[in-house]
Amino acid sequence: MGYHTGVDFEILPGEENTDVAVKAMNDGVVLQKRFASGYGGVIVVSSMVDNQPVTIVYGHLRLSSIQAKVGDKIKAGETIGFLGNGCSKETDGERKHLHLSIHKGTEVNIRGYVKSKELLNDWVDPCLYLKQ
Ligand SMILES: [Zn+2]
Repeated sequence: MGYHTGVDFEILPGEENTDVAVKAMNDGVVLQKRFASGYGGVIVVSSMVDNQPVTIVYGHLRLSSIQAKVGDKIKAGETIGFLGNGCSKETDGERKHLHLSIHKGTEVNIRGYVKSKELLNDWVDPCLYLKQ
């Protein structure tokens, strides 16, 4: 399949049938909110990490649960929406989980996987910026 551009956050046992909130990892502005093949619902937020522009991709969300519109500001820690139901259109058939990736620059790129390790240089490991 290739090299994973981001990190998958799994749900906890018992969360299959409950609403799992997805919180913004950083401040930003909504660039896209749409259905995408491989993700189901996806939202892309422009942001800054280490004074560098990035776009943050949150994948496998229930699109109808996302209140923010394109152009809206989002604050770190704010609930963006809820995870889509596993194996449904909301996750494009995937298990219920969050795909989170950070792409360097301002160009929107929602690829979940890339073909070579070198191409991963265009991406930032979200774990570097997540407070536990
Ligand atoms: Zn993933």
